[in-house]
Amino acid sequence: MRLMKRIETEAIVIGGGATGAGTLRDLTLRGVRAVLIEKSDMASGTTGRNHGLLHSGARYAVNDLESARECIRENKILKKIARHCIEDTGGLFVTLPEDDPSYHGKLIEHCKYAGIRCEEISVQEALRIEPNLNPNILAALRVPDGTIDPFRLTSANVLDAQERGAIVLTHTGVSGVIREGDRATGVNCRDRRTGEEFEVFGGIIVNASGVWGQELCASAGIALRMFPSKGSMVIIDYRINNVVVNRCRVPSDGDIVVPGDTVSLIGTTSKKVDYDKIDEITVDQDEIATLLESGEKLIPNVSRTRVLRAYCGVRPLIAVSGEMDGREISRGIVLIDHEKRDSVGGFITIAGGKLMTYRLMAEMAADLACAKLNLKKRCRTRTTALPGSERKLDQAKSVKFFTGIPNSVVGSTLYRHGQRIRNILHRDKRNYGLICECEMVTEGEIEYALKKLNAKDIVDLRRRTRIGMGPCQGQLCAYRAAGLFVKYDSATSTESNKMLVDFLEERWKGIKPVLWGDALRSVEFCYWIYQGLFGLGDVKFPEEGEDR
Ligand SMILES: Cc1cc2nc3c(=O)[nH]c(=O)nc-3n(C[C@H](O)[C@H](O)[C@H](O)COP(=O)(O)OP(=O)(O)OC[C@H]3O[C@@H](n4cnc5c(N)ncnc54)[C@H](O)[C@@H]3O)c2cc1C
Repeated sequence: MRLMKRIETEAIVIGGGATGAGTLRDLTLRGVRAVLIEKSDMASGTTGRNHGLLHSGARYAVNDLESARECIRENKILKKIARHCIEDTGGLFVTLPEDDPSYHGKLIEHCKYAGIRCEEISVQEALRIEPNLNPNILAALRVPDGTIDPFRLTSANVLDAQERGAIVLTHTGVSGVIREGDRATGVNCRDRRTGEEFEVFGGIIVNASGVWGQELCASAGIALRMFPSKGSMVIIDYRINNVVVNRCRVPSDGDIVVPGDTVSLIGTTSKKVDYDKIDEITVDQDEIATLLESGEKLIPNVSRTRVLRAYCGVRPLIAVSGEMDGREISRGIVLIDHEKRDSVGGFITIAGGKLMTYRLMAEMAADLACAKLNLKKRCRTRTTALPGSERKLDQAKSVKFFTGIPNSVVGSTLYRHGQRIRNILHRDKRNYGLICECEMVTEGEIEYALKKLNAKDIVDLRRRTRIGMGPCQGQLCAYRAAGLFVKYDSATSTESNKMLVDFLEERWKGIKPVLWGDALRSVEFCYWIYQGLFGLGDVKFPEEGEDR
């Protein structure tokens, strides 16, 4: 009889979104041995499906003062500890002729209560700051909004934790929680790539599995009800704004345009979805129409710019009490001690909140986890910078240090990896040769992502490097990346071909809803390359269990 593999640890974190990654890092910084288990890739859940807005808190100031205060506090912390994941763009709230003019004054007043710097500026000044803005706006406010890259942020948290000894298991699902009497003591796991099944045991289990937390709790015999709400977003091919542009009105559909790396995105909508449909959600045509129409009102250039893709995410709203009818739904951070609430020891849930409050959520979860483990260790994440963000980024110094390598390559590597650039770039032409021209991703960056950042396939690689996220959506770089998986012994040639198919299908999902004009032409071109030239659709792949 073959015994099932068993891992023993102090803390088990389920879910590799920003919350789980942040909790893992917080625990390891306190010296706790921890294992993180993620069923897909890091940041593949809601963390990778939002605007990437580093809220100033102004969007919540009028309706939810507590969230607004949390946001501005975390905004200031993250600008110090996660510099290389953030663009301190600043943000505007603008009033359009059709908007209620009284909201402008209300927002100034409530920002004051929340401690958010909110400055009234003239329309001319707003247009100077953001020349693409609708010139017909009536009033403008400036707030300290910014942008945050969810993939870089999650990856940096995991990298730090791993360097401090944490174990990270991606593409590994938790199929059930193991209970011994009134305690949860471990979890059953399955590696989705190899099919291997094993168990992980620990003194405390942190459920950071976002909207999927309901089924995880059910497997532990706990009733937790989620009320998922879908939000869709549209990505525009160019960076048409340099500061975050918000509409100055009660939050509603399509009232924000966020710049991010080389593109801009318009968000968002809000639609209730049934819990059993959360893995099947897609963007609806009426949402795209609303987003484009509203985005154009803020920035008229939207109508003249190619739409690159559309995507959606699910906001996990939780019923805090054991009631299953949703009378007590929380929109803020929810930390549940299941020992107190459900008489199940060794198990806690952290959910809700926002991407940009992930550190605070992690601190709350780690505080409770340590209390349950009888450890008195203080949180250090408020002041300990993430790997890559230890010092202020100095592009001029880096360009000088890497003399001989094109400035644009140095600039984009520094932008994505901060001080870790020194672990990536070196003066060997192969190392800085470009694999993705849209996003300036080099072979060296891909090698680093494969060896150090847990990238297991091309979709993971996209999240670590932005490969395939630019205008060509992977047409010209995906096959080169597939080749590098083989070159660096990260896949066999059959596996790399399969990865290529999976990557193109994943890109297709986001392009399909916006299939007109340039996007349609681009897809045709992609089809000619991968089917016409390579015949990828005709390649036969072994079934699961067959020899690869
Ligand atoms: C449309 C939209 C726009 C948003 N915009 C912003 C914004 O601009 N700024 C902001 O700060 N916040 C924003 N948010 C909120 C933010 O995205 C989320 O609050 C945050 O990302 C949640 O992170 P998380 O780690 O808690 O959950 P997730 O990122 O969903 O992570 C949960 C992880 O658990 C894994 N998992 C689930 N079940 C299992 C299992 N059984 N075994 C192993 N792993 C499992 C999943 O695969 C997933 O990766 C937005 C949300 C939405 C929906």
